Amino acid sequence: MPDHRSLGRELDLFGTDALIGAGLPYWLPAGAIVRHTLEEYVRDLEREAGYQHVYSPVLAKRQLYEQSGHWAHYRDDMYPPMDVGGEQLVLRPSLCPHHALIYRHTARSHRELPLRIAELGAMYRAELSGVLGGLHRVRAIQLNDAHVFCAPEQVAAEARAALELIGQAYRALGLRPARYRLSLPGPGGKYAGGPDVWRHSAAVLVEALDDAGVGYEAAEGEAAFYGPKIDVQLSDAAGRESTLSTVQVDFYQPERFGLRYVGADGAPYRPVMVHRSVLGSIERAVAHLLEQHGAALPPWLSPVQVAVLPVSDEHSGPAAAFGHRCARSGLRVEQAGPERGSLGARIRAARHVPYQVVLGGREAADGRVSLRLRDGRRVGALPEAEAVSRMAARIAARDVALWEPEQEVSVR
Ligand SMILES: [Zn+2]
Repeated sequence: MPDHRSLGRELDLFGTDALIGAGLPYWLPAGAIVRHTLEEYVRDLEREAGYQHVYSPVLAKRQLYEQSGHWAHYRDDMYPPMDVGGEQLVLRPSLCPHHALIYRHTARSHRELPLRIAELGAMYRAELSGVLGGLHRVRAIQLNDAHVFCAPEQVAAEARAALELIGQAYRALGLRPARYRLSLPGPGGKYAGGPDVWRHSAAVLVEALDDAGVGYEAAEGEAAFYGPKIDVQLSDAAGRESTLSTVQVDFYQPERFGLRYVGADGAPYRPVMVHRSVLGSIERAVAHLLEQHGAALPPWLSPVQVAVLPVSDEHSGPAAAFGHRCARSGLRVEQAGPERGSLGARIRAARHVPYQVVLGGREAADGRVSLRLRDGRRVGALPEAEAVSRMAARIAARDVALWEPEQEVSVR
């Protein structure tokens, strides 16, 4: 498994500057494409699964976090408050309190539940500089977050649906969990709420794990302060585990914020909050993708998807026309002509690009192109329109595999 930091440099994805500070990477154009594509993917996935997206500010008054319990239980990981005109503002350490207030924006009926609120939003963690590294531990985190507000009897189904969504995303991304962890409170930790509520929440998560048919290990002392959680663990290059996706059950914050809905009998009831993240932080997700795939990201995530390589200058015009055709079909395309060296050198330079299209010679004369795959296999000569539509179809399907069926390609 490669290290994501060296790949990030090799592929020009992200960088850091001492003047910005440790744990605050910036995204270069190629990295921004990967990030944007990943964010669009997860938004689409969530929309299809019945989530509604919101935006909320990265700052809030200190009182918000006193009410949510973060100030009492999580303050060591928060940035100090900023005094602004007699008020204290803090950078948010999570999105949950904002979403609880969005739930409270209007009176809610049982008919609206489960209400699934999602946001790709920034949050901040005051990590010490010694533990920061690459994209795994950062101080400004872009989180793929969502909160499902539901009736108590809907919690198990929502937790299971969240696990299914995570599984679906991992298949598209070619990610493999190292294990599922059921994170429970440990001795001496700071936890909110009584033991009965914790036992009940943990039982709901166990039910969801059993229903999803995945094995898990219980870990004491890894829970959030407001509830137990399922952590999906991935391994990094050095075999160190970290958490990417999470599903948490929370009876505590709905109570702290006085959340209610009107039941079928007209009486007020308290909803439960299921916190869930499919990709975790975008930073960590990209780090894992690089460590899983090396430079060969799934084609739909690759910064450049098609390299157009005219054999000689006389093929540059047709190559440009073919490139436009690819771009119109939504493919990210780059042309590399003879000014960048021999055809062999250009194919080597494009070795991380999933599809390499050579234009020239006999094929060009009858409107065909020669298609090679990143792994060295050759699809061979295809009519231009067919080459474009088949590449575009594979990208649109977000398939991790480069091409199929296997028998259509020959090994170099
Ligand atoms: Zn949350």
